[in-house]
Amino acid sequence: MLSKGGSFLIEETDPNSIFIAEEWNEEQVMLKEMVHDFLTTELHHLPSEPDASKDLQFISGLLEKSAELGLCGLGIKKEYGGLDLDFNTGLLFSEAVAPGFSFATTIGAQTSIGSLPIVYYGTKEQKEKYLPKIATAEYKASYALTEPESGSDANSGKTKATFTEKGDYLINGQKMWITNGGFADIFIVFAKIEDDDNLSAFIVEKTFGGITLGEEEKKLGIKGSSTVQVFFNDCPVPKDNLLGDRQGGFKIALNILNSGRIKLAASTNGGSKYALSKGIQYAIERKQFDKSIAEFTAMQFKIGEMARLIFSSESALYRTGKNIDLKEQELIKNGSPENETKINALREYAIECAILKVYCSETLDYCVDETLQIYGGMGYSVEAGVEMGYRDARITRIYEGTNEINRMLTFAELMKRAFKSKELDLVKAGKKIPLKLIKSLLPFQNPTICKRIEMFKDLFLILSGHTGKLLGLKLAEEQEIVMDLADILSEIFIIESVYLRVQKLTNQKSSSKELSIKKDILDLQLYMCTNTIREKSMTIIDSLASNKNKRFLKLFSKRLTQSFDINPTFKRRKIAKYFIEKGEYSW
Ligand SMILES: Cc1cc2nc3c(=O)[nH]c(=O)nc-3n(C[C@H](O)[C@H](O)[C@H](O)COP(=O)(O)OP(=O)(O)OC[C@H]3O[C@@H](n4cnc5c(N)ncnc54)[C@H](O)[C@@H]3O)c2cc1C
Repeated sequence: MLSKGGSFLIEETDPNSIFIAEEWNEEQVMLKEMVHDFLTTELHHLPSEPDASKDLQFISGLLEKSAELGLCGLGIKKEYGGLDLDFNTGLLFSEAVAPGFSFATTIGAQTSIGSLPIVYYGTKEQKEKYLPKIATAEYKASYALTEPESGSDANSGKTKATFTEKGDYLINGQKMWITNGGFADIFIVFAKIEDDDNLSAFIVEKTFGGITLGEEEKKLGIKGSSTVQVFFNDCPVPKDNLLGDRQGGFKIALNILNSGRIKLAASTNGGSKYALSKGIQYAIERKQFDKSIAEFTAMQFKIGEMARLIFSSESALYRTGKNIDLKEQELIKNGSPENETKINALREYAIECAILKVYCSETLDYCVDETLQIYGGMGYSVEAGVEMGYRDARITRIYEGTNEINRMLTFAELMKRAFKSKELDLVKAGKKIPLKLIKSLLPFQNPTICKRIEMFKDLFLILSGHTGKLLGLKLAEEQEIVMDLADILSEIFIIESVYLRVQKLTNQKSSSKELSIKKDILDLQLYMCTNTIREKSMTIIDSLASNKNKRFLKLFSKRLTQSFDINPTFKRRKIAKYFIEKGEYSW
């Protein structure tokens, strides 16, 4: 049986059971190359980035060109004109398209949030009517959830749908920050029907009338992506265009966001790789003090750190993507209704999707910042093109749920599965710990990597159990503690994924220089995450001021995060030199 979402915390995973990025097949690699060629031909030769306030036609035309290659229908079933690729290949596509400046956001909205609500929740008639046209980009799609007064608190939206005499709807309200809104033909609109408590979702065609658009927003970045306000004034919507159940819209919005989050993680992974490669190329070319700046170890630090973060986040990303595919297959085999399988598979891994959104977007921010620094003054110039990446990256910590909201969600979802739906038996896992702890207090032994990861898991269970007991439901209000716990959980998931990936490669006996660098990355990641977990756990313990067990908790925390004895500087330099020799981030 496939592992449950979040169960990485309490179960061991067989390295051979996970998917690793080294296993992409020929077709998948070809898809990646095709996207690369598309971006080179259509975008990378442009003198400057497109600007949605001037180049709207060019941008929507690009969507049509990409559709000719099948790229707008990757997740749509063949019977509706799509390619019906598996979910993990869809993630690879998101990675590949990321260097396409803000076109990644445009096609992301088309293929993800703007169309998946129909793919997952549409009736047969709705699918037949809309999906073929979305796949060819004859219909450009958008997703309209956010409102001026309703952002993170999405269910508080004021947009209303009232019944007409015929039982159709009239929609009134205002949506904000709508990607692709400037040229969209269809909007997935979330509104409350009459006096309902919860949102419903509708497929709204622009031609229905009653829709006006605001000016293109003047944004910090992703300037080539259309973002507008959309106003609905008595917009008539046929009753058949209700998507899913009445009041089921909030559930749709949340479930679609699970998909959006992991796709964004894949896209940020692609952006990070692109940034690092640019940084490496510039570092090699740029000479100062009669040397290439790539020879300075301060520059190697940046390159090594970026490579560590990228490899680590990627390991967790495609492990999860494959699990989503496998879960879907399992659900189909068990007779789940076809319409629900993918969405339920995604829901299963909601914790992992939220972790990945945060970790990968923060990795991207680090990479674009350090790449710009490698470029020095040139990095600050528009000419070099890296300031665009710096500006574009910033949005990824805000949309698809802000990183604060995603951190909170990570922990809340884990607690829900432990104590409400009882899918994860954290209590049983926690009960085993005291004996293990006594053993951990025995004289210092050098634990294996696997053992260390298990010790982090024990520490998380101790801290979450203890804070939960002390604060009860009030824990939700102590957001700093919740966010630190979410970060510890995230570090555990990431390091375990790197470990499993390297272990799987080692089991395949693929001894090579490449594998030896991957082992160095694993060591460095373990070193760094040990420090992070220790620091965050100490902050949590110190923040529980009235805690009489503080001294013991600190002792356990130190023991369970005991130093990993490597030379991090040596490892980091070695990793950096490997990629400098390659002239790019070559994985
Ligand atoms: C360029 C761009 C494109 C976008 N595209 C789309 C789109 O296509 N469709 C769409 O519907 N939306 C879109 N959005 C909207 C986006 O999803 C929201 O901006 C995002 O969800 C945050 O909402 P908000 O801006 O209202 O911020 P707010 O919710 O007001 O948040 C402000 C700050 O408060 C924090 N905060 C809020 N609530 C809490 C809480 N409970 N606990 C702790 N901290 C909290 C947040 O983390 C954040 O730091 C887009 C936004 C941008 C900028």
